[in-house]
Amino acid sequence: MSTIKITKNSKNIGPGCKYLLDIVRGCKNQCLGCYARAIYYQGSKTEFDQPKLLDFDKQKLSNQLKNFSKKEEPVVRIGVNSEPCVNIRLLKNVVNLCGKYNVKIIIITKSIIFSKPLVDVLKNSNVTLHISLGMISRAQSDEKRLAEAKRFEKEGIKVIYRIIDDVTQKPKDFFKKVIKENKYILVTPFRARSYNIARAYNLDLKNYTFHKSYFKPNFVNKEWRKKLNRFCGEIIKNNKAMRLCGRCFID
Ligand code: SF4
Repeated sequence: MSTIKITKNSKNIGPGCKYLLDIVRGCKNQCLGCYARAIYYQGSKTEFDQPKLLDFDKQKLSNQLKNFSKKEEPVVRIGVNSEPCVNIRLLKNVVNLCGKYNVKIIIITKSIIFSKPLVDVLKNSNVTLHISLGMISRAQSDEKRLAEAKRFEKEGIKVIYRIIDDVTQKPKDFFKKVIKENKYILVTPFRARSYNIARAYNLDLKNYTFHKSYFKPNFVNKEWRKKLNRFCGEIIKNNKAMRLCGRCFID
């Protein structure tokens, strides 16, 4: 069984994110448009859909975290390639250990559920929660994710709302509200990997170009453009790909 360890984000999933710390392999949320599912498990989606916890070797991970903490920017992301809230006990163990070695953590999730013991663990470590919104998914609804995130925020946990949407269209009312009501927002353009996915999200493909292995938006609607400083990831501006990386970690 593979062990939990810090790895380099060699496939550059989630631009700007250099180091990953997966606690599980695979994910059962089956989000339409999931990059991890498509990139890591080509031809073996069934395996991806049945998440397997990785082995927690406290001593090994401690040694790695100790060295990692000496880096200029010791930040790891948990949940780029999987849903980390699938096992809260394991997540708490890993977060605790990161906290011990002053390694900052970004947790990206669609499935977090509020609980006081989890709040206590997050508070004792330097964690920013990223709540993903906008994908068609088997995970809890966007409204439920928002409600859970608010409960963590109320307890003093740092939360960023991470919106994935068709940026060639005006923002939906739900997202306008999220943007208005929250300080920390990151927006990532939706990029479909197939016609089926594009159809499911109702994308107008004349606004998209097939680039490498996905449809990429050709432009950003002017209502989103006004919120450009809250963008994250790779977007298209004046026909040039550019990276506008928002701050993913709240100090
Ligand atoms: S939660 Fe993340 S890893 Fe899981 S299917 Fe959705 S996008 Fe993929």
